[in-house]
Amino acid sequence: MATATLIDGKQFAARLRASIAVHVAQLKADHGITPGLAVVLAGDDPASQIYVRNKGLQAREAGMNSFEYRPPVTVTQTGLLARIAELNRDPAINGILVQLPLPPQIDPQPVIGAITVSKDVDGFHPLNAGLLAVGGTAMVPCTPLGCLMLIKAQVGNLAGLRAVVLGRSNIVGKPLAALLLREHCTVTLAHSRTRDLAEECRRADILVAAVGKAQMVKGDWIKPGATVIDVGINRIPTPDGKGRLVGDVDFAAAVEVAGAITPVPGGVGPMTIACLLLNTLTAACRQHGIPVPEVKPAAG
Ligand code: NDP
Repeated sequence: MATATLIDGKQFAARLRASIAVHVAQLKADHGITPGLAVVLAGDDPASQIYVRNKGLQAREAGMNSFEYRPPVTVTQTGLLARIAELNRDPAINGILVQLPLPPQIDPQPVIGAITVSKDVDGFHPLNAGLLAVGGTAMVPCTPLGCLMLIKAQVGNLAGLRAVVLGRSNIVGKPLAALLLREHCTVTLAHSRTRDLAEECRRADILVAAVGKAQMVKGDWIKPGATVIDVGINRIPTPDGKGRLVGDVDFAAAVEVAGAITPVPGGVGPMTIACLLLNTLTAACRQHGIPVPEVKPAAG
């Protein structure tokens, strides 16, 4: 039985962060600019607390300034918008990220829409989404950007390949479909109303699963030799009660069929924060009219 190449996102992300750190140091040395990332955490979601802590840590490790704002869970829409307005005005802050989910009294769309477009390092602002759709200079959402980097590193030229993206969310599926289209793939965006999901998947040279359903994609849904990117993060029960993280793909079966596959954990996940740092560096350069460097992962 063939065994797929493992796409090591953890290692790739570490190499990317190392390279970002070099560019950050260069920006400081040449222009006296230190990119600043502000993360706003309004909810009390335990997973969000961990993400925010890691984002701050990794930003500092890359030589950036990291600012954290933790309004109370009872914060009002007006209060949160006032905080965003302050961050928009602050020249030390180049990137603003509002950690989702927000508390139930907050409508996320106006909050995201209030972030200055050039500081929207999550790429969720409707203007950035529109720019990506029309092929403009957008801030690209971090997880799809990370997926694309892994795919390109594995496959090289994507022109003419068939890509199937499972999941059409605004934060993963839709922007990734736009990115793959930009790379000249023939893209299918599948979702919960797609008629024959397995058959659609079997046509894919590149298959991306971003649905949030544990091990939904079976081995016989995969075209032999395909590149499989598993974005899903799902916790399944284990006898010891601790649970275990798995993706949207049945990894044990898929690894026998695919040409290359990302594991969960250690695949797409680490790329998301690395791309957030990349976007913050990009934002700082654009805001100061400095050419954006081409950041390639440091040699492994
Ligand atoms: P959403 O819940 O926003 O979207 C899920 C998408 O999957 C929807 O488009 C939905 O279709 C589709 N879907 C759900 N069930 C099925 C099904 N049975 N068959 C086909 N399609 C289905 O999720 P996200 O995009 O936010 O996240 C997806 C997964 O990726 C989650 O596991 C999440 O934890 C993970 N994730 C991982 C990140 C990382 O850094 N690695 C970052 C972000 C997300 P429809 O639109 O028709 O409802």
